[in-house]
Amino acid sequence: QPPLLEVNNLETAFEIDGEWHNAVDNVSFQVKPKQVIGVVGESGCGKSVMSLSIMKLLPKGIGKIRNGDIKFNGINLEKLNDKEMNKVRGKDIAMIFQEPMTSLNPVFTIGFQLSESLHNHFNISKKDARKKVIHLLDKVGISRPEKVVDEYPHQLSGGMRQRVMIAMAIACEPKLLIADEPTTALDVTVQAQILELLQELQTTNDMSIILITHDLGVVAESCHEVIVMYAGEVVEQTDVVTLFESPKHPYTQLLMQSIPRMDQEEEVLASIEGIVPSLKNMPRQGCKFVDRCPKAMDECRSITPQLRESSPGHGVKCLLYETSWEQEGMKAK
Ligand code: SF4
Ligand code: MG
Repeated sequence: QPPLLEVNNLETAFEIDGEWHNAVDNVSFQVKPKQVIGVVGESGCGKSVMSLSIMKLLPKGIGKIRNGDIKFNGINLEKLNDKEMNKVRGKDIAMIFQEPMTSLNPVFTIGFQLSESLHNHFNISKKDARKKVIHLLDKVGISRPEKVVDEYPHQLSGGMRQRVMIAMAIACEPKLLIADEPTTALDVTVQAQILELLQELQTTNDMSIILITHDLGVVAESCHEVIVMYAGEVVEQTDVVTLFESPKHPYTQLLMQSIPRMDQEEEVLASIEGIVPSLKNMPRQGCKFVDRCPKAMDECRSITPQLRESSPGHGVKCLLYETSWEQEGMKAK
């Protein structure tokens, strides 16, 4: 089955004080039809920049795709002009964000905002749009949609607003939905409901989803494949079962330990010490995780690990799983 989305060697850079720094560095992955891919990592690891790159929504003049390509259904998105890209956005690829209040306009009714995206892509009468909006609200589990359609965003709870955002995203039945931390701002019960809704829609709409999250627990529930990102790079990449059965990268292992566990009486949340290096302070050589890695070796500062298959379909970027650096070291001696 040909992939729906193909990201090849993507490098997205931002300009800081006259210098360009890669926020996404040589990232490659594919999304097949109906597949759910999880992208995991702490904030500042390049997850959102990657999704903005796919949507071609990088801030103009500040961020740019430096290298690589993004193909959707075989079409190179890089080659599309703004007008052509506008047709793809919302219609073929849609996106939902963490905080719905910032993406919903407070001065317009829910119905108005939802019909707008329908009018943008379809020739549809006002009356039919309203009908469709009510149907969409119902589909995302909003009770009394006939009432909600005439309400304003502030009249809804956070969970309902996120449902509205999802309704807006699926209005044009996109083939790919990018959900960037869609449940982070919500309480645990609502989080679970929203994830369930996304899974349901994924099946009924035959949609692929890129689910971006800092929470590996979320990934376990909903994803087929997982990409773990650190400091703009993919550090581990495999199917969800393999990742949970044998996480290889020290960063992934630490992320696993920070998943809240229901079976523990007190929530022992191990957080990972230290912070993701900023773009300006990114090490140019060696492993970018070295300052926080409990398994770091001397070599990790000088030798840059490569993403390699540790078993078929399981990529890891860590010197612990490479042997070539030892050999190179031997040669140097
Ligand atoms: Fe840790 Fe070294 Fe592996 Fe980096 S290369 S993750 S520092 S062991
Ligand atoms: Mg983000």
